[in-house]
Amino acid sequence: MNFEINSITRENIKSLSPYSTARDDFKGTAKVFLDANENPFSNLFNRYPDPNQKKLKLKIGELKNVSSENIFLGNGSDEVIDLLFRAFCNPGKDEVLIPQPTYGMYSVAAQINNIKVNSVSLTKTFDISLNEVLKSITPNTKLIFLCNPNNPSGNLLSAKKIIKILKTFRGLVILDEAYIDFAPAKSFVSKLNNYKNLVVLQTLSKAWSLASLRIGMCFASAEIVSVLNKIKPPYNISGLTQSVALKQLNRVNKKNKEVMKIVSQRKKLINQLTQLNCVKKIFPSDANFILIKMERSKEVYQKLLKKGIVVRNRSNILLCNDCLRITIGTPRENNILVQQLKAL
Ligand SMILES: *Cc1c(COP(=O)(O)O)cnc(C)c1O
Repeated sequence: MNFEINSITRENIKSLSPYSTARDDFKGTAKVFLDANENPFSNLFNRYPDPNQKKLKLKIGELKNVSSENIFLGNGSDEVIDLLFRAFCNPGKDEVLIPQPTYGMYSVAAQINNIKVNSVSLTKTFDISLNEVLKSITPNTKLIFLCNPNNPSGNLLSAKKIIKILKTFRGLVILDEAYIDFAPAKSFVSKLNNYKNLVVLQTLSKAWSLASLRIGMCFASAEIVSVLNKIKPPYNISGLTQSVALKQLNRVNKKNKEVMKIVSQRKKLINQLTQLNCVKKIFPSDANFILIKMERSKEVYQKLLKKGIVVRNRSNILLCNDCLRITIGTPRENNILVQQLKAL
């Protein structure tokens, strides 16, 4: 399959001349900055941040083994998702294909951009239903979103099926790997050279414990990245965020240790919950949360809320009847949850 980025980029985006920021014309370190109407008196924050996040991308590139030209950073993955719609989908005309149930932001972003959402069901074990996906692609389908591991079910999708979709589809396949650090699988970032229509999303919000910073990472071909760069707000990642993220990214060992703790807590929590009568089923998880089917799930959800324990009620979504999604917390938090469930 030969994928052509120009065939899916919106005409108004192709012809757009982007906002050029104050420092775009200057390489190196200037002595005097009189170009951006900043207040010159230093307080660490008086200057505009690097719009290209060069240092941060170098660091991320080192960790992920990709070059900076293949990295785009957003104000959370949510910004990247919105920009993908704005770059590649014509409002009122184009369509997105989303296997459900999955992360809600894909279809919210689609609706905000007036893009028709075509949903197909995942299988009962929450894997891709390949025939359903392939036969639901229309001439106007520009994007397919796959979440791997999937939220809210927690499982990895079949890599073979993902590859089949990458090979068959002439639009972009957005593979959201927000939870990949918790999973026993390799990231698709290493396959970027094989598939020109692959876009991998990762985030600093989960394993890296930096949700408050708002950094979403997008890995894709240099062509795709340059389209996103063209339309992003110039200073979408604040200077404070860039410097804190850079510092935290040096603490890979800390991140890995925490991931290991969370994965072992996941195993322990699953063991404990299995023993409760009210728990009917626990779906296998490769992420930092578990989806559990419960008796009287909505009642349990409300009772937990009254005890000050917030979990995610997924009872009303496709394939998730009577299901709650529970994030793996600290050992203390998990114990409180188990004790309260026992008491109900
Ligand atoms: C949590 C989550 C994200 C992260 O979003 P950010 O905006 O980067 O915090 C992305 N995708 C999925 C599926 C998630 O569950």
